[in-house]
Amino acid sequence: MSTLKPAGAAASQTLSKLQLAAPIAGWATVLEEVPDPAFAQRMVGDGIAVDPTSAELRSPCDGVVLSVHASRHACTLRTLTGAEILLHIGIDTVSLRGEGFTPHVSEGQSVRTGEPLISFDMDLLARKARSLMTVMVVANGDAYTVTHRVQNRSVATGEPLLEISGGELAAQAETGTETAECRVRLLIPHGLHARPAAAFVRHARPYPGTIHVGLKGRSANGKSVVALMGLGAHHGDTLTLSVRGGRAAQVAQELAEQVTLGLGDAVRPLAEPSAAPAEKAPGVAVAPAQPFAPGTEVLLKGTLAAAGLAVGQAVRVNEEEPALSQQGRGPQEEERRLAEALAGVRRDIEALLQTEGKGSAARTEIFQAHLALLDDPEFTGAAGQGIAIGQSAEWAWKAAIEKHVQVLHSLADPLLQERMGDLRDIGRRVIASLTGQDGARVPANLPPGAILVANELLPSDLAAVPPGRLAALCTARGGPTSHVAILAAGMGIPAVVALGEGVLRVPPGAPLIVNGDRGEVHVHPPEAARESTQNTLRARAARRKTDLATAHEDCRTSDGVRIEVFANLGRPGDAASAAAQGAEGCGLLRSEFLFLERLTAPSEDEQAAQYQESATGLQNRPLIIRTLDVGGDKPLAYLPLPAEENPVLGLRGVRVSLRYPELLRTQVRAILRVKPEGVCRILVPMITSAHELQAVRAVVEQERRALGYAAPVLVGAMVEVPVAAVLADRLAVHADFLSIGTNDLTQYALAMDRGNAYLAPQLDSLHPGVLRLVAQTVEGASKHGRPVAVCGGIASDPQAAPLLIGLGVTELSATPAVIPGLKAFIRTLSLAQCQEAARAALELTNGDEVRALVARTWQSQ
Ligand code: PEP
Ligand code: MG
Repeated sequence: MSTLKPAGAAASQTLSKLQLAAPIAGWATVLEEVPDPAFAQRMVGDGIAVDPTSAELRSPCDGVVLSVHASRHACTLRTLTGAEILLHIGIDTVSLRGEGFTPHVSEGQSVRTGEPLISFDMDLLARKARSLMTVMVVANGDAYTVTHRVQNRSVATGEPLLEISGGELAAQAETGTETAECRVRLLIPHGLHARPAAAFVRHARPYPGTIHVGLKGRSANGKSVVALMGLGAHHGDTLTLSVRGGRAAQVAQELAEQVTLGLGDAVRPLAEPSAAPAEKAPGVAVAPAQPFAPGTEVLLKGTLAAAGLAVGQAVRVNEEEPALSQQGRGPQEEERRLAEALAGVRRDIEALLQTEGKGSAARTEIFQAHLALLDDPEFTGAAGQGIAIGQSAEWAWKAAIEKHVQVLHSLADPLLQERMGDLRDIGRRVIASLTGQDGARVPANLPPGAILVANELLPSDLAAVPPGRLAALCTARGGPTSHVAILAAGMGIPAVVALGEGVLRVPPGAPLIVNGDRGEVHVHPPEAARESTQNTLRARAARRKTDLATAHEDCRTSDGVRIEVFANLGRPGDAASAAAQGAEGCGLLRSEFLFLERLTAPSEDEQAAQYQESATGLQNRPLIIRTLDVGGDKPLAYLPLPAEENPVLGLRGVRVSLRYPELLRTQVRAILRVKPEGVCRILVPMITSAHELQAVRAVVEQERRALGYAAPVLVGAMVEVPVAAVLADRLAVHADFLSIGTNDLTQYALAMDRGNAYLAPQLDSLHPGVLRLVAQTVEGASKHGRPVAVCGGIASDPQAAPLLIGLGVTELSATPAVIPGLKAFIRTLSLAQCQEAARAALELTNGDEVRALVARTWQSQ
């Protein structure tokens, strides 16, 4: 129970203690309960949350309104003692862009305790926001601490809720004039991110003197988490700790020890090999962190991010960060500078988007997303707050970006984590503009066969390079689904990421072979290896040219059996290039691209526009859109799916759609709106029973009638669960077509997690058991005259094509890039030979035997 005194009276606001009243009625709860890591982990500050029962936010204290957020869902007040109180209504409500909020105050206005600040439409928020949880935190927590809070009970507006104390640090700082400085190496693998920064602050705050942490010419207040995070200190960086006050030398030493110990995170010594260790050639001993000596042959292993092969020479990317000054020249001047820089970067990106013929649709989408980031009120708002307290525009912008980078970093979703590079990129561009630096990290004069080597590459690094000038990319960090990986694939160059720090030892100009297919980088390869790779590249190019010449023709086996070759698409912008490579339609549009990597669900209009883009790109060829397939390995940040012990066997695929029928209905409506009418077919993932398909079809039919469309809508089932294959004849009664998702079918049939690297060699979709399930599916479907497609990974595998065709599959939906070669190969096959091989394969015992059989029968594969 609270023992707080009544709040609101100016008399209760002493220099050291301040009472804050409940700004809203509801259930008071701890920040840990807030479904947003930025609040739950107190990155923004300490405070309290209220699950509201009233729809009006009122002032918790007397003070001045520092800011009202552009999206009207949050405001900051400065109390009479200087504490800055952030009030934030709901979670992810920034995305509503003001809808449903009515502010009653404006910046600079004085308010009294209990005066209305913002009212909101509770029903609308309940429908559209991720949570209504309303947060009150002390934003300048370096000077204040929460000393008491009411929690786990309902509170009325105006009731005492929080007690904070502080405000006297500046006075205390004068307690001594001793100064001390010490340098310490940061060994935390992810740098000084939110958690260790907060740990540092916990050690620093009790000290009455001042503590500053310096890095590369910048200095941050050691008692502010945000300032420390804003330093952007990485693993291996040397920090300078400057202490002023009594016992300065001892305090500096103690803090340095805490940093060395990792501030609660595990440390990774600099000499320790990275997660992806370098395999050294026998007999070669190289000192850690030293560049590889000329001629030292090394094989580095990383993660495949874009397939392909390249020979060339290393070009190091300049990753030095400019020194920034923290102090601004006054809020007005800094705001003007930031606005100008943002406008300048916007113009540059728009010009980049205008440049014709420089890349794929993915590239356009990535840079359009960067434009949206530039306008994001979360960044401009946070930077504005920094500027308001005297920071320079570059410092405030960097801190705003880094704060969100840390939020992404703390999320469990790896896809969202891979968007950190985009934030850094936008951060870097704006800072380069503010500091008047050129900003280009990739050298302008690239040698022929340039292979970029970097710790981390950013999308703008690649956009700056004229087409055809890069041979490959390799990075120490990064993930296979990062935007850089997507850009590399669009440019047709191999990329290997997550090579660890070994790759940073590659000296500029070193000859390299990059094998994107195997995720390997060969440093200083012998002359013979380089030549043989060049020969392979020449042979591949010649073959691709011939294959492309016939890619647009129908595909038939040598004995005239028509096999349709469709494309799997992950994003709408790739449809046109898939069609250009001979795709006869799209056999699987993974609609998750629209739902993942974001904090709110896409609207019907947004979905309809994206699906339409795919249809337009395919120029009236059939477009099969798979309804949302999330859950399992693809969690959604905004869908409150329960934590499951075994998510791959839990709520995923169609089960999610039926559990959230509005989500399905919205998606179906968006699909049906695509023109020309009837061009889209609907594919339903993870079907285990005909009832699920019937339930989806009922929604499709209702929406079709509601839209007044006459054309029938074809609805198909994915066969990914063994029971769906076994009961294909039952399913085919209700399905217009079946499409086998061999990726999941294999994982469920073999009981092997498809993400388990250890099991990967055995997880082969050509396992005879999986092939028997394919055979059963075709047999069941044929009883009702339904066609069967394969849209899993083996549809792109030339070794699988003869067997699938032999088993009666008539459509393969493959990765666009393999389509020309796949079609050319199918034309050489005869159905009789395929059937014979398929029959034999079903009698074998494992995938290796099946592959050996195919290799024997079709030597060249
Ligand atoms: C599959 O499971 O084979 C499939 C195509 O679906 P996804 O890979 O998207 O799970
Ligand atoms: Mg699947």
